[in-house]
Amino acid sequence: MTRTMVAATVPLVGETVLLKGWVQTRRDMGKIAFVDLRDRSGMVQVVLVPSEIGEAGKELMKELRTEYCISVTGVVQARSEKQINTEIETGTVEILAKELEILNPSKTPPFELDETSGVNEEVRLKYRYLDLRSVRMLKNLMLRDAVVDFLRDFLHEEDFIEVETPCLTKGTPEGSREFLVPSRIHPGEFYVLPQSPQQFKQLLMVAGIERYFQIARSFRDEDGRADRNPEFTQLDFEMSFVEQEDILALYERMMIALVQIVTPEKHITQTPFPRVTFKESMEKYGCDKPDMRKDKNDPDELAFCWVVDFPMFEKDSEGNVQAAHHPFCMPNKEDVARLESDPMNVRAQSFDLVLNGIELSSGSIRIHERELQNRIFALLGISPEDTQRRFGHMLEAFEYGAPPHGGCGVGIDRLVMILANESSVREIIAFPKTGDARDLMMGAPSTVDQKNLDEAHIKIQASSK
Ligand code: ASP
Repeated sequence: MTRTMVAATVPLVGETVLLKGWVQTRRDMGKIAFVDLRDRSGMVQVVLVPSEIGEAGKELMKELRTEYCISVTGVVQARSEKQINTEIETGTVEILAKELEILNPSKTPPFELDETSGVNEEVRLKYRYLDLRSVRMLKNLMLRDAVVDFLRDFLHEEDFIEVETPCLTKGTPEGSREFLVPSRIHPGEFYVLPQSPQQFKQLLMVAGIERYFQIARSFRDEDGRADRNPEFTQLDFEMSFVEQEDILALYERMMIALVQIVTPEKHITQTPFPRVTFKESMEKYGCDKPDMRKDKNDPDELAFCWVVDFPMFEKDSEGNVQAAHHPFCMPNKEDVARLESDPMNVRAQSFDLVLNGIELSSGSIRIHERELQNRIFALLGISPEDTQRRFGHMLEAFEYGAPPHGGCGVGIDRLVMILANESSVREIIAFPKTGDARDLMMGAPSTVDQKNLDEAHIKIQASSK
């Protein structure tokens, strides 16, 4: 007999079905017991009557506890008018069990799975495989899947090609500390995990791919924040032969269609999305992520806003000039002449998309000429030798007919977090790290055997803890 998902039982009144799943709850009513049986599709009530279920079943019935994994063969029965449960989708039927099998018993779960909002987050993360059984987390994972699926389809329709780029690579300056991976084969040398596929996607434009995207994992070794995980997912895309307006138009169309198709219950405050310059935003809202919602208590309101004309450079806490976004952004045409004389007033052809006061993505038109890129590195105080060592490959690539290009990176975690009305990205990542970058379920990071350290040519300093 093939298995039926519980949500599919509703139209099968009178038929015998085989169900498999977990015991959500068990209620005893004298001799009879009711079990809410849950699988990925939902929940259905199973009625266990000793006279109907056979000798073996009669014994097993007593053993059933919450989260036992079971198999039930039974007849789908219509519930009487009075017994219809409008709270669940299968509320018009119940299953009269004829056979019962325990596929695997369960220890008592460390927390109730149906209402996890009050449960200590560390416990949820340690037992993430149980936490993910909750309806809330399943819904979040399904929403994430729907968002990614939509984005892939949309971009394929627009002639983009998805290309994977390496995770073991070389550093790329995007303003964060990088994770290092020691090379076993090359003692004393390291790979760096990418902060984004920035250089690769630009090199794909040099390669003539013209329209690239990737659902890309990015890594930043920063101190934890609720809206950041040390590894996060971006929709990364890049286009050749475009102006900034072309990128904004495509991206805006994609976001509007996403909301219509994936979360039609939500409404966008204003289309076309309002646009402010960085300068206006700082003057008017005191920040570069203005929250344009009309009613902050409306959970279904989505207020998108473009912030454009970011400065090319900013000063760090020690007064050193650094790239405001990253050093590959194209300066505004009118400002190029003042790059050296007045760098702090040079605007970049770069933009952010802000959603409900949260920065969703950054992008820009890129530099595609060696000479201009060299000037930027020089202004950032990177010596010619360092420039050559770190970025020689990019500069050389630009000399082989690199096309004008631009693109952007969209934070998938933040986007789904907002669409799911969650306040932490941890709620929409299957296996996230804690605020202090630990995986409590796997127990990572962890010490490793001396043999592994030796192979990686690593000596741990006694004082480093
Ligand atoms: N690489 C950039 C980032 O991660 C996005 C972009 O400029 O495309 O923020």
